[in-house]
Amino acid sequence: MFGTAVRQLGYAWSMMSGRRFRLRDVNALADDMRVTLETFGSPGEGADDMLAGSDPELQEDLTRRRLRRTVRHAAAESPYYRRWFETNGVDPGSITPATLSTIPPTSKADLRGMPAAFVSDRARPVVLAHTTGTTGTPTMVWFSAYEIELMSSMSALALMLAGNLRSADLWANAISSRSIAQILTERAVTRTGAAFVHLGAVDPAVALDRLATPMHVPGKHPQITQLNVTASYLAALVQEAERGGWQAGDFGLSTIWSGGEVLTDALRVRAEHTFGAQVRDGYSMTEIAPVGGRVCADGHLHLPADQGLVEILDPVTLRPAEPGAVGTIVVTPYSTYRDTTLLLRYVTGDLVRVLRADEQPSCALAALPATSRVLGRVSPGGLTTRDVLDVLQAEHALPLPTRWSLEGSLLYVVAGKSDAGLLGRLEERAHGLPLDGIVLVETADDLPAPCRLRADLLELSFERGL
Ligand SMILES: [Zn+2]
Repeated sequence: MFGTAVRQLGYAWSMMSGRRFRLRDVNALADDMRVTLETFGSPGEGADDMLAGSDPELQEDLTRRRLRRTVRHAAAESPYYRRWFETNGVDPGSITPATLSTIPPTSKADLRGMPAAFVSDRARPVVLAHTTGTTGTPTMVWFSAYEIELMSSMSALALMLAGNLRSADLWANAISSRSIAQILTERAVTRTGAAFVHLGAVDPAVALDRLATPMHVPGKHPQITQLNVTASYLAALVQEAERGGWQAGDFGLSTIWSGGEVLTDALRVRAEHTFGAQVRDGYSMTEIAPVGGRVCADGHLHLPADQGLVEILDPVTLRPAEPGAVGTIVVTPYSTYRDTTLLLRYVTGDLVRVLRADEQPSCALAALPATSRVLGRVSPGGLTTRDVLDVLQAEHALPLPTRWSLEGSLLYVVAGKSDAGLLGRLEERAHGLPLDGIVLVETADDLPAPCRLRADLLELSFERGL
């Protein structure tokens, strides 16, 4: 127990000072937590504090210190920011949360155009991750062994404490293997003592078979208990399960982790009914890891402040978005966690709405900063991906995953076979949205513009039709 206390001190010291973690402290903490859970079944009192981080009164001082170190590293070590600070004659030591806006935000195009310019001179890159964005060319982000090990062990702690993951669980990843999340999740899950299954983003029918098939391995639940998916792939699984007559009792799932795309309440409820599991929504992105968010029961996205500085900026002016307005998430990940690809004020392009004063959270995560859930993209008319999906996914007659596109203010929706009442019902649901009309089409080929979903990033397998 004395060893644990010392490691907790080491961990807390890094959290407070913004300096690098000693990996053996963090790894040992995760291992101690696993043993505690295996022995006593619960994490023990005060364990939550380790993740919740600091007293709110300290937060401001911590933010200032962490930011100062991060800016200093970026300005000294990365060619891109070194050049900017030199050209503009700005002293990196002068940057505080109040003056951070002096530094122009870094766009995806900046990073995509010259990924190496953001890599620290002192880095030891070991893994190159590709983003799986649906807008075109992937962004490449380098990671070091330190980053991967640190993020995995911290994520293992979070999965055990907040995610209730136990060593009897079987976790299946059905996300793109190119994502850094694949590596991090595998390491995090196995560190908790749970088993990891490389399911892959395979044909949904194959995935359902695997989920339903008992594994018969010692010390584990009979079937896969945890499933990690993108929202559109979850939609494809729901569709296939309904089509194939699967029932919740066919599966042993307890939690489905959804991320990477807009998850509507309608899809969440339908998936929970289909699989008899709780669906948890989260937010993460390769470039800004380990900064990420959790969606609470009240439907806020909570973005903890201790792994990076989060700003919500107007998508056009890149000035702070007003309460009630839509803004893009802009993140400066702290150098405590990131020592390879260094980013200051990275514009994620993911839109959220800033909460108004009368919407301040009173949920279980109220201590953590909150926004609306991710809204997706926004049309020139002000329509967000979430607005559209809320309307379409409430309608069970439409095929999943939902496919649509806009042409001006006309919404084109893939509806499969024609259904007389469907259009009327959708028009009723869409009342009040900035739309001139809805056009139902039969297949995705009939849409005026492609509707790209992560569910389309399927991996081939030989299992079907053999
Ligand atoms: Zn909340």
